[in-house]
Amino acid sequence: MSVSDSGVVIIGAGHAGGTAAALLRQFGFERPITLIGEEPIAPYQRPPLSKAWLKGEADAEALMLKPESFYGESNIRLILGARIDALSCDDKIVVLVDGRTVPYDSLIIATGARARALPIPGADLGGILSLRSAADAENLKSRLGPGRRLAVIGGGYIGLEAAASARALGAEAIVLEREPRLLARVASAAMSAFFTDYHRGRGVTIELDARIEGFEGKAGSVSGVALADGRVIPCDVALVGVGALPNDDLARAAGLRCENGVVVDDHARSSDPAVYAIGDVTQRPMARYDRMFRLESVANALEQARQAASALTGRPVPAPEVTWNWSDQYDVKYQLAGMPFDVDDHIVRGDPAAAKFAVFHLNGDVIQAVEAVNAPAEFMAGRQLIGQRRPISRSRLADTAISMKEVAA
Ligand code: FAD
Repeated sequence: MSVSDSGVVIIGAGHAGGTAAALLRQFGFERPITLIGEEPIAPYQRPPLSKAWLKGEADAEALMLKPESFYGESNIRLILGARIDALSCDDKIVVLVDGRTVPYDSLIIATGARARALPIPGADLGGILSLRSAADAENLKSRLGPGRRLAVIGGGYIGLEAAASARALGAEAIVLEREPRLLARVASAAMSAFFTDYHRGRGVTIELDARIEGFEGKAGSVSGVALADGRVIPCDVALVGVGALPNDDLARAAGLRCENGVVVDDHARSSDPAVYAIGDVTQRPMARYDRMFRLESVANALEQARQAASALTGRPVPAPEVTWNWSDQYDVKYQLAGMPFDVDDHIVRGDPAAAKFAVFHLNGDVIQAVEAVNAPAEFMAGRQLIGQRRPISRSRLADTAISMKEVAA
């Protein structure tokens, strides 16, 4: 390694950035690696922040991607509490908020996404939170408990997980969803109906078609959510879970091609060949779709970290994966494989009333996606069949007397 070797700089010490740094070393990359993140802690996993950690079933250590000692031992320079303010692709430098510059030979942008704000009256009151970071989760948890009332704005996965965790902590919870069903953008109607019933059965109030006008407050803190129909829903804390936006401003300002995220290819390479981007911040291609996607999932972060680390160590492009995601709510383990888009039919296998079933999304006789509730065999076989893209028998798929192994054979 020469003294002037700048190696790889990674902006964003989150799930994707931390994984890319570790994979580079695992793949034999011997040049310098600098991992820079604005949060004060080493890379950690966000999924438990709305689930096990929020309920008090996992401690902070369980969140960490790697023990902090890993970075020193692996000769990865970890700079924390440091926000990158600018990037020059011509000069191959990143600029920290305090003016320091760090040069790179190759750059990986792994800046993730941020919670979308709700620009409505009262949104700046205390107790109106989003849930993206460990600090956000600490803040939320400190406000939940018996006698407290959580209003969740947005019936997506994170909001529903937070509502379930709030119930586990003894708090009341109400979910206010603008659409006529929960999970409207991401799940089948059957799955939306299942989660609506499941939450209601556990004491969560679900309001669909809810039009939110603003927040009301007392002494600077939120005390209620005002709806267009004139009602005010009382609450002590409000969680705004209305989606996330990619942190692509740096890349955009540096002239990299961005369209709702940094546009990358299947090597995770951006429009500048020395710059890669991975994780929630990217707009990426996916095998068997002729359009681009911005995914927010651990599986996506890991897949793209592998793509970038492979490209930087001269390895072949990793085989495309069937993307997947999960959610834990109460005793429900939900798993999704594939992309539930552009499908012409659905087959339900199993019994939603027993909280053990799967919804298969089909295009003709080919499975495009599977949503599974407490049904790991359906998830695993479904994921395999999606990858294989081969037609299946619909009647056999719907028949629980025939095992998934036999369906997939
Ligand atoms: P992040 O992990 O968000 O990391 C990005 C990092 O970059 C952050 O630390 C950020 O502070 C830092 N950063 C941003 N800008 C700068 C800058 N200018 N300078 C320096 N640092 C910067 N996915 C699943 O698959 N399953 C789940 O069940 C699931 N549950 C989730 C629950 C919650 C509450 C949340 C928030 C997310 C969940 N996700 C889940 C999504 C998953 O956590 C993300 O897809 C994953 O973290 C993406 O990794 P990333 O590295 O792209 O982004």
